[in-house]
Parts: sequence; structure tokens; C-alpha cells
Amino acid sequence: MLVYAPAMTMPADKNPIASLAERLGPRGFTDDPDTMAPWLIDWRGRINGRARALLSPATVDEVADIVRVAAAARIPIVPQGGNTSMVAGAVPSPDGDALLLSLRRMRAIRSLSPADNVLVAEAGCILSDVHDAAEAAARRFPLSLAAKGSATIGGLVSTNAGGTQVLRFGTMRSLVLGLEAVLPDGSVFDGLTALRKDNRGYDLRQLLCGAEGTLGVVTAASLRLVPAAARRAVAWVGLDSAQNALDLLRKLESATAESVETFEIVPADGLDLVLRHIPGTRAPLSGRYRWNLLVEATAPASAADPGESLGEALAEAIEAGLIGDATIAASETQAEDLWRLRESMSEAERIDGVAAKHDVSVAVSHMADFMASARTEVERRFAGARVLAFGHLGDGNVHFNVRAPAGADDRAWLASEGAAVTELVHDLVTAAGGSISAEHGIGQTKLAEFARLGGTARLAALRAIKSALDPHGIMNPGKLIPLAPARAAP
Ligand SMILES: Cc1cc2nc3c(=O)[nH]c(=O)nc-3n(C[C@H](O)[C@H](O)[C@H](O)COP(=O)(O)OP(=O)(O)OC[C@H]3O[C@@H](n4cnc5c(N)ncnc54)[C@H](O)[C@@H]3O)c2cc1C
Repeated sequence: MLVYAPAMTMPADKNPIASLAERLGPRGFTDDPDTMAPWLIDWRGRINGRARALLSPATVDEVADIVRVAAAARIPIVPQGGNTSMVAGAVPSPDGDALLLSLRRMRAIRSLSPADNVLVAEAGCILSDVHDAAEAAARRFPLSLAAKGSATIGGLVSTNAGGTQVLRFGTMRSLVLGLEAVLPDGSVFDGLTALRKDNRGYDLRQLLCGAEGTLGVVTAASLRLVPAAARRAVAWVGLDSAQNALDLLRKLESATAESVETFEIVPADGLDLVLRHIPGTRAPLSGRYRWNLLVEATAPASAADPGESLGEALAEAIEAGLIGDATIAASETQAEDLWRLRESMSEAERIDGVAAKHDVSVAVSHMADFMASARTEVERRFAGARVLAFGHLGDGNVHFNVRAPAGADDRAWLASEGAAVTELVHDLVTAAGGSISAEHGIGQTKLAEFARLGGTARLAALRAIKSALDPHGIMNPGKLIPLAPARAAP
């Protein structure tokens, strides 16, 4: 591990913005409003920001120069990857004070070592490019999510992203072996190791994972690879009880020697939205079930076909009345079609209208109860409100979204009721011992709720770490860390 400060290569006599324009050149600097516009609005189209300029460095030394200039001039920096954040984490504030720092030009795969099972990718590398590079070396990077065509390694690290394989491989934190990052004073933390064990005290790598750009700019990551999955079995299951789904998960895990890595839940009305809004999709089962599950099990070439054990276990579950029906994809095309139904959920929901969105987790064994009791409570307090809970049931994490009553003006309903709905859902999840942010982070949109429910000790520790590493508060201000409460007047 090495922290170094590269030699300053900046002209010192200019104003900071002019210096940066000169240092980065036209490919790396723009303040043209039209070019910046698409990157100043969040993925869900709710939050608009402004910036002094959009900076697109191509090397770690350029990133370090930018951060040092910004630190000296106390100019805020907002790091941005694919801008797919669900909590508007990568959009600057509307005051227009900040520099938007895009990592998208830093997209090289620096190395891949099959012997170490490690791939080193730059921060702007898109997740699907990492998948392709690993596959070309008969390996796999086992983290995937619906935004894989846009989300970048830097963003995935900085949000500690989850996705659809957490059940077996964990979140980004468990897949990052090392990081290279520019810290808020412009020094470079060179922690890009392939070490599996490293006990040199506080783990800066883990501190940067999930830091949402508030402690520095991630410029590259060494990522853990696993052997390629030679065979996969993908099933779609229909059932009427979410509690039965969890019983099914445990049965499938033992029947398939723990090769189940995806266990996602989609409610009937969620599947309806996908079928209505996403062209080319069709219902995989003839009956309509209250709940649907997408299940994937994988195995290396040397192991038994996971499709056989999965098929047998699902047949037994139908026989036992645990589930209503199931189908296993007979080809890769069919497998992709089933995946598309799950991965299109957010997009279909977005097309259908706005919703109060919540990304919550509770203990896996409590999730069925939580979904039922929270729905009852929301419907009792907000007449006609429609709950749509879907997602990573196997991890105890669902997107618990609440839509306006049918026929209502959904934007007006959200404006008048949204905050109260969110407070209720977050109170319920907190009372159930869960988290108000399972995988999307805090960003801007959950800041007030994090301040309300984060807990005194947790928030104080976060603020202390932030001010130790970023004393001038230039790194992504207004995200993740709620401002310290004002002192009571004497
Ligand atoms: C359709 C869809 C499905 C999704 N599904 C999932 C899912 O299943 N699981 C999940 O966890 N998330 C999911 N997300 C959310 C999102 O994809 C992840 O949060 C992802 O990690 C963001 O990557 P990004 O490159 O777009 O980051 P951005 O949105 O650009 O940034 C996210 C945060 O990271 C910071 N950041 C970005 N790059 C850097 C860097 N190099 N250094 C320091 N800070 C940086 C930003 O400042 C911001 O705070 C989904 C999003 C969409 C649109």
C-alpha cells in the first residue's frame, strides 16, 4: 500500500477552472451546457443539478491534479460513472458550484491474471465489459444487475452494489481485493493489490467501498474472479405464498449443493407491468400466481448438471403444494427471456409512472412477514395506494415501492403523500431491525431519512471519518453524510 502525491503538472498562475481546462484539453474539459445536460439529471429524472464544468480525465495523474486544484480552491467535486444511481448520488447540487468529474474515459482493463483469478479494471470500465473480459479468459466476475450496460466499476465500488448474485458471492465489498483512489488532498492511494489476506490495520479499501464518492475518487479496482459457469439452469416459478418461497429457497440450496445464486421475487402485478410495457415479453406460465420467482443455479463443467437437481426439487415442491407451477428454460434464448422479465421490472415501473421507492432489507426469514404487514399498514394509512415489492428475496432485500391509487394523478399524489409514505415504510423497516438502504446507498434522496433514522453513534462516526479525510468537505458534498445537527442555543 502506498500513498503518493504525483508532481504537480498544472500551470499555477491561472484561475483554477482555466488551469483545469488547459491541463485536460478539449477532450477532458467542457463547460458547454448542452454537452453537460444529460449528466446533470439523475437516472430517474427527478433531480436536476448544475456544474461549473464537466471534467473527463484519462489518467490517474489527471484525476490527482484535478483534486489538488479543487482542494486548494475549495471547489466541490462530484464523481460520476454511469449515472445510474437510484438515489441521485452522482448529480451535483443546483447551486452550480461543483465540478462534475466523469470517470468514463478511464475504461481500460489493465490486467487479468487467471493464475490469481484477478482482473484490474479502471473506474470507468462498464460492468458488461468486465463480464466479457472475464469470460474470454474462462472466468467470471459474479456481480450483475440490470444496469450492467451503463454502470461502471467506480460507481459499483462506491455504492457497494449488490445485484442478483449476492446470495452466493456477496456484494461488491466481497469482490474487491484492492483499490487505487485519489484522496481528497490529491494524494494517490495505491492499494491495487491482489492480496487475499492483508491485516495492516484499518481497511481503506473497505472504507471507500460504499463511500459514494465522499472520501475520494476511485480510479481502479482489482476484482476477484471465479471459474466460469459452464452450465446454468434458469427457472421461473409461480406460487401464492411468499413464505413458501423462502422454504423453497432452503430446499433448493440443499438439493443443488448450494449452487443457487439467484432467487428473485416478482409479484403478479409487477409481471403485468413488464408484459404491458416491455415489447417482446410473454408470460412464462399458463396460470397467474400471486408471486413469481426467478431462480438460477450454476455449476462448473466438472459438476453435475444443475438443471437436473433443480428440476427434481421443483417437481417435488409442486407435488408438496409448496409452489403452483414452474418451468426451466430449455435454451439460452429462453433463459435470457426469463431474465429479461426480472431485469425489466424497474424500467416497466418507470414507464408506468412515478412511485415512492424504498430499497429495504430485513433478515431473510422475516421478509415474507415484513412484506405482508408493511403492505397492510401502507394500505390502511393511504387509501388506494398500490404496493409493488420485488427483488432480491434470497438476500432479504426488496424494492418496496408504493404507487398512487389507480386513476389518480400520480405526480400530484407523490408530491402530497410521498414523504409520509416513505417515513412510514422506513419506520416499519427500522422497527423490524432492517435497513432503509439495502443496496442503493443514501445519495441525496435518502439523506433526510438517514439523518432521522441513522442513529447517533453511526452518524457521529461517519462525520468524524469524513472530516478526518476530507477536512474541507469538497468530495461529493450533500450526499451520504447528513449535516451535523445545529447546536441548541444556550
Ligand atoms: C435499471 C437499474 C437497475 C439497478 N439494479 C441494481 C441492483 O440490482 N443492485 C444495486 O446495487 N444497484 C442497482 N442499481 C443502481 C446502480 O446501478 C448502482 O448503484 C451502480 O453501482 C451505479 O454505478 P454508476 O457507475 O452508474 O455510478 P453513478 O450513478 O455514476 O454513481 C453512484 C455513486 O458513486 C459515486 N461514484 C461514481 N463513480 C465513482 C468513482 N470513480 N469514485 C468515487 N465515487 C464514484 C457517485 O458520486 C455516486 O455517489 C440499478 C440501477 C438501475 C438504473
